[in-house]
Amino acid sequence: MSNTTVYIGLGSNLANPVEQLNTALQSIDKITSTKLVKVSSFYGSKPLGPQDQPDFVNAVCQIQTGLSAFELLEKLQKIEIEQGRIKKRHWGERLIDLDILLFADEVIHSEHLTIPHSQITFRDFVLIPLAEIAPGLVIPEFGNIQNLINTLDESYLIALSH
Ligand code: AMP
Repeated sequence: MSNTTVYIGLGSNLANPVEQLNTALQSIDKITSTKLVKVSSFYGSKPLGPQDQPDFVNAVCQIQTGLSAFELLEKLQKIEIEQGRIKKRHWGERLIDLDILLFADEVIHSEHLTIPHSQITFRDFVLIPLAEIAPGLVIPEFGNIQNLINTLDESYLIALSH
């Protein structure tokens, strides 16, 4: 198995979000040719879109995988569906959302996959947990993670225990 280092963002704001994240992490560790290596703290965050929905719990994990980015996306989407993903509206509430943030230093701009993830630079709930498990990370096209954190307007994250 070739070993690509990949970072995945996790988010949930329904049906016990902490449990949803833990379930998804267990499923990620079971993906073929894939090993869960590190998990950030869990963070509470305010929703980006409609405000009449519960706060989110977010985290980031690092995996090693022998899969391609597209194969991994397929596996993550399967986990989302199996875990009972419901998507009611754009940027609305969801049971579990899994995003590939970084896939080694690959840059992909295709119809179904953008890597680095298109929202990476302005989401505190991605950058702060990512920096926690990968300090000094350099993000292709965007640069050093600490510089990106310094450009955030404000952060509304609360670290939770898990
Ligand atoms: P979302 O509503 O954020 O869950 O977006 C889901 C869609 O984003 C899927 O149809 C994916 O094909 C697409 N997508 C594009 N880039 C990524 C990525 N880096 N990670 C996960 N999904 C992605």
